[in-house]
Amino acid sequence: MSDLFALVRDVHDFPKPGIVFKDLTPLFRDGPAFRALVEAMAAPYRDARVDAVLGVEARGFILGAAVALHLGVGFVPARKPGKLPAATDREAYSLEYGHDCLELHLGSFAPGDRVLVIDDVIATGGTARAAITLARRQGAEVVGVAFAVEIDFLRGRALLPPDLVVSSLLHV
Ligand code: AMP
Repeated sequence: MSDLFALVRDVHDFPKPGIVFKDLTPLFRDGPAFRALVEAMAAPYRDARVDAVLGVEARGFILGAAVALHLGVGFVPARKPGKLPAATDREAYSLEYGHDCLELHLGSFAPGDRVLVIDDVIATGGTARAAITLARRQGAEVVGVAFAVEIDFLRGRALLPPDLVVSSLLHV
């Protein structure tokens, strides 16, 4: 795992002064590392009877789609406002460097669907919480939330529902 995370690049002052951006693109570029990351993110949920992965735009698409393939289930995108073509539900949230909104196509989940939420990084937790809220509003059961990187000092985990499995591979 430490080899993997040597491939996470710190970019200082992006996208705003004072933010250290955890850039996973060098890890994605390395085939064996990317595969190992995806397998490790999927591992806690192999026996969790997941029906679908919900990935958060944009890096959550890269990891989420790969984890979905690995688990043999479908993929649903949670997108920034105005990107999804059909009727959507919307949830606003604040993040480490501003405010934003996530949208989910109506009818993405049937009541009782078991959903795994995936993103690359958890910072303040607002993004993941919005994704969970959107899935639950459609009656889905969120069985877990998985991140590659958790920025511990921002305590994002505390914003997530206490009954959820939250897994992060690297704590910084
Ligand atoms: P938050 O809602 O504060 O937990 O922010 C998480 C979302 O913003 C994820 O989609 C991340 O990709 C992105 N993000 C926030 N802070 C960082 C950071 N320091 N490095 C990389 N991505 C970040």
